[in-house]
Amino acid sequence: MARRIDNYLKDLIPAEKMAFYEAVRDFSDSEIAPHLLHWERSHSLVPNSCIQAMGDMGLFGLPIAEAYGGQGGDHTDLVLMGLALAYHSQAVAITPGAAISLGAKPLQLCGSEAQKQAHLPALAKGERMFVFGLSEPGRGSDAANPQVTAVKKGDRWVLNGEKCWSTNARWASHVVVHALTNPTGPNGKRSTCFIVPMNQKGVFYQEMQGKKVWEQSSTGSIMLENVEVPHDAILGAENDGFKVMVTTLNGGRLFIASLALGSLAFALDKCRVYAEERIQFDDKPIGRFQRVQDVIVDMDIALESGLTWLLHLCRLYEAGTLSREQAAKIKVECSRRASDLIVLAMEICGGVACFDEFGLIRHHNDLFVTRVGEGSNFALKDLIVRPLRQA
Ligand SMILES: Cc1cc2nc3c(=O)[nH]c(=O)nc-3n(C[C@H](O)[C@H](O)[C@H](O)COP(=O)(O)OP(=O)(O)OC[C@H]3O[C@@H](n4cnc5c(N)ncnc54)[C@H](O)[C@@H]3O)c2cc1C
Repeated sequence: MARRIDNYLKDLIPAEKMAFYEAVRDFSDSEIAPHLLHWERSHSLVPNSCIQAMGDMGLFGLPIAEAYGGQGGDHTDLVLMGLALAYHSQAVAITPGAAISLGAKPLQLCGSEAQKQAHLPALAKGERMFVFGLSEPGRGSDAANPQVTAVKKGDRWVLNGEKCWSTNARWASHVVVHALTNPTGPNGKRSTCFIVPMNQKGVFYQEMQGKKVWEQSSTGSIMLENVEVPHDAILGAENDGFKVMVTTLNGGRLFIASLALGSLAFALDKCRVYAEERIQFDDKPIGRFQRVQDVIVDMDIALESGLTWLLHLCRLYEAGTLSREQAAKIKVECSRRASDLIVLAMEICGGVACFDEFGLIRHHNDLFVTRVGEGSNFALKDLIVRPLRQA
């Protein structure tokens, strides 16, 4: 069966990008889809062999310049990878996705030349992974003023506190810690980002247990107890940490939108096939009922419009003209539209939608993360409304 998403993508992207998307799609079909149920039922994270295979394909280095050992691609490639992998599993997609868009990206955007030389080649191969240490138990949406502190001691800094929700923590070589360094400074100029090795004395990682979304993705809590780092561990400028974090999130939010659309694309194909196969009343398929058709048509419209908008914003991102509001809006819209529609998609499939092997329940659960991750949708609307309130 031809996928609806492929039908739209081929008109939206050039042939060489389509070939890349198809290669990741085929990998996802052959190396991920057949194993997902087993991974889920055995509660395992993405296996190392799968991470290795994605590394061998060059996925971890997609938008990293060739000079640093990457593929020299762009944000569109990253989003295409997200669409192709999330069609089966957002949890698998977020593994290279977060490693790039939250891990390597702050380094690419704000790192010194020495930091780039030191880390990007290993990050591009997937041999090293950075995690994004913004969220804390007491600082979620209100992230500008971290409770994790960094205090200067001679030519070194001492970090204390706890980060949580750190995606990829299980495999991380380093965490980029957003820490309070200037408590009395103006808002937005109170924090600094530090590159901290996970094997540094005083760093402790624990996998967060009981998560029922993105089940194969590692989500860790990272404790920092008197962790000492040198001054050159600072990423970006001192007291500019919040700027490093929010600049990174612009690209990350486009990636989250791609995960939502990948799930929506799967749900659309699943439902339109099922609606023609499932026979009820007068030996005819349920796809003849107009209410069933409504849901399928709404999914199709949401997919085509979401893809068109997202790929347009990727071009703005590459041109350096994407605004924070634009990145927030697509994340909000794709995540809420896809997660609202998947409930209806499950309803038109009836009881069978409850089963893990049918696939929709996985996407239903994972779509919840796209609503709260990288900025909760409700909180992001505070940002989106600002230009609308100017006279
Ligand atoms: C699976 C997963 C992976 C994650 N990975 C990472 C990661 O790698 N690195 C990282 O740093 N973080 C990560 N996060 C954290 C994520 O970014 C936060 O969950 C998110 O920022 C929201 O914070 P919170 O959950 O503490 O919710 P809170 O800030 O407590 O907000 C709860 C709710 O209150 C409402 N609310 C809050 N503020 C406002 C407002 N201003 N206006 C209107 N309503 C508001 C919203 O409904 C919001 O959903 C991850 C989260 C999940 C679930």
